[in-house]
Amino acid sequence: HRTAHKIDGKAYAAALRETIATHVAWLKEVHGVTPGLAVLLVGEDPASQVYVRNKGVQTVEVGMNSYEHKLPADVSAADLYALIDRLNADPAVHGILCQFPVPEHLSETEIVARIDPAKDVDGLSVVNAGLLASGQKAMVSCTPLGCLMLLRDHLGSLSGKSAVVIGRSNLVGKPVAQLLLRDSCTVTIAHSRTANLEEVVRGADIVVAAVGRPQMVKGSWLKPGATVIDVGINRIPAPERGAGKNRLVGDVDYDSAAQVAGAISPVPGGVGPMTIACLLANTVTACCRSNGLAEPE
Ligand code: NDP
Repeated sequence: HRTAHKIDGKAYAAALRETIATHVAWLKEVHGVTPGLAVLLVGEDPASQVYVRNKGVQTVEVGMNSYEHKLPADVSAADLYALIDRLNADPAVHGILCQFPVPEHLSETEIVARIDPAKDVDGLSVVNAGLLASGQKAMVSCTPLGCLMLLRDHLGSLSGKSAVVIGRSNLVGKPVAQLLLRDSCTVTIAHSRTANLEEVVRGADIVVAAVGRPQMVKGSWLKPGATVIDVGINRIPAPERGAGKNRLVGDVDYDSAAQVAGAISPVPGGVGPMTIACLLANTVTACCRSNGLAEPE
C-alpha cells in the first residue's frame, strides 16, 4: 500500500494571504492606494450570507477595503445595474462580484455582463473567458486559479503532462482546462456524456474532478502516481457523527484514491480555501492594473 501526498490547500492559502497582505501594505505605503473589493448580496440565502461574510473578513484581514452591498430579494434589475454602474465608476473599487445564486427574476449572465471586465474578479464575464481562451491577460476565475496554483506548487512545470478535467462548467471545468492548456498540458475535458470515463481518467498524469457527485472517482480509475485535484464539495449523511449529521466529501473517493495517486487534495482543506485567497489575489491584480503598477506574480 502506498499513501499519496496530501496537498494542503489550507496551508497554501494561508501563505498566499500573507504574501497578499505584504503586497497590499506596499501598495498603500509606496503608492497610496488601497485595493477595494465590493461584494453584492441579493436576498438572504444563509449559505450565501456565510460566504459573503467570510470574503469580507478575509478582505479586511489582508488590509484591503471591503464594501458589502446587501440588497433585498425583490430588488429590481434596474436598481441592481445602477449600483453596478456606480461601482464600475468608483476608483476606490477594484473588484466587484455578485454572490450567486440570485433570485429568479434576475439574470446571472446579465449581471456579470454589466460588471466592468477589468473589475470582474470572479473572471466570469465573456470578455475574461475569451481573453483566457485566446491566451491574453485575463481575470481568471478563482477556483480554477486555485487548482492551478496547487498543481504548480506540487509538480513544478506542468508542460507535456496529460490532464483530464472532469466537468465542463463555465465556472470550473472550462477555465481549469484553459489554464492547463496554457501551461502546455495535453488536456482532455470529460463530462456526463463521456464514454469510458474510467479509461480516459486512467491515462492522466493530472486529474481535476469538478463534477458535484460524491466520491465518484475511485482509486481503481487512476494511473499510479497521478496528481489529483478534487474540486467537488458535497454534503453526505454522516450517521456515525450522530442522527441527522452531515459531512463534506469531494468528487473523489479519497481513501481508495490515496492508495494509488501520487498526491491528492483533500475535501475539506484542499481547493476550497484557495478560492477566497485567489479572489483577494485577483483584487490586488486588478488594483495594480488599473494603477499601471507591477502585478504580483
Ligand atoms: P456543474 O454542475 O455546473 O458542472 C458539473 C459538470 O460535471 C458538468 O459539466 C457535468 O457534465 C459533469 N458531470 C455530471 N455528472 C457526471 C458524470 N456522471 N460523469 C462525468 N461528468 C459528469 O458544477 P460546477 O462546475 O459548478 O461545480 C462542480 C463541483 O465543484 C461541485 O461539487 C461544486 O460544489 C464544486 N465547487 C467548488 C468550489 C470551491 O472549491 N470553492 C467552487 C465551485 C464549485 P454535463 O456538462 O454533461 O452536464
